Amino acid sequence: MENVIIIGSGCAGWTAAIYTARANLEPLLVTGMQPGGLLTTTSTVENFPGFSKGVDGISLMMEMKQQAERFGTRIRYGSLVESVDFSRRPFQIRLDGETIETRAVIVATGAGHRRLGVRGEAELENRGVTFCATCDGALPIYRNKPLVVVGGGDTACEEALYLTRFGSAIHLVHRRDHLRASPIMASRALGHEKIKPVWNSVVEEVHDVTGSEVTGVRLRDTVTGNENLLECAGVFVAVGYAPNTQLFRGVLDMDAAGYLTLCEGSSRTNIEGVFAAGDCADSTYRQAITAAGMGCKAAIDCERWLSQDHAMPSDQGVLAAI
Ligand code: NAP
Repeated sequence: MENVIIIGSGCAGWTAAIYTARANLEPLLVTGMQPGGLLTTTSTVENFPGFSKGVDGISLMMEMKQQAERFGTRIRYGSLVESVDFSRRPFQIRLDGETIETRAVIVATGAGHRRLGVRGEAELENRGVTFCATCDGALPIYRNKPLVVVGGGDTACEEALYLTRFGSAIHLVHRRDHLRASPIMASRALGHEKIKPVWNSVVEEVHDVTGSEVTGVRLRDTVTGNENLLECAGVFVAVGYAPNTQLFRGVLDMDAAGYLTLCEGSSRTNIEGVFAAGDCADSTYRQAITAAGMGCKAAIDCERWLSQDHAMPSDQGVLAAI
């Protein structure tokens, strides 16, 4: 029997682990298939307080993991939760074919990449279509070739800037005529000589005339409706994220986009004893630091709930003895 299982290993999950471990709850954290979460796919994180020179995403997540382990967090690596049963207590979590019982759960499953949903995107994934410049940008197929980044947010700007190290030109394709990104990221991207904005344009199809790898994209002008072909060796899709909450559909309350809805000002979900933190429950801010803050809140709410309303394993032993 676990006190608390934390599902997810991004900023929210590790912070919840640090706090629950320090509260002697001996949390079990399930990493999921991408330990460290989305931050491990970014390059330099410049806006996480405490790092005046910036920090790379992987190092930041490794530090959080080691901090959580130092206080007694146990970790299940590479495991995916297959199903949950929150209809009875203790809750049941099915993991790697095993059922684990737990008094409380903190959901910190984060978000995954949103897709364009156009022809060629899925077919050419890892053959020129990718969702992570940091992971794939240095591959030989992209060197000294024109590349396309799709999106107008901070991620698209960050990806485009990163790719300037490798590509001959970076076409930043955005469906509107101005970027959504923060001013500092937008001006950096638009000020770079290699980055060429393609305004009011959407990708209609990813081409592979050779039959094996990306050779270009068919673009449609959202104002005129005209179409044209843009040659490129790679398409880096950066059109935002969708929350990883499919597992909880029909179980936990969520909005139309799938973000978990929380009781106001807290981390409580609609099920008592189940808490949520980070991008899976935040459609507004979605920052590393806000995810960490939410992880902290979830841990404190969980610890209070367990200690006020529910006997701990050691207390139960005492009660049984009486
Ligand atoms: P985002 O802010 O949601 O931006 C997504 C972009 O993709 C928008 O420009 C959107 O267009 C476009 N888009 C969405 N669906 C599309 C589609 N089907 N076809 C074409 N374009 C589409 O996502 P994000 O840039 O990944 O950022 C997510 C969060 O992380 C934000 O809060 C951001 O501030 C944060 N972040 C921060 C940093 C940093 O501070 N260094 C770095 C990365 C991310 P519209 O503009 O027309 O809606």
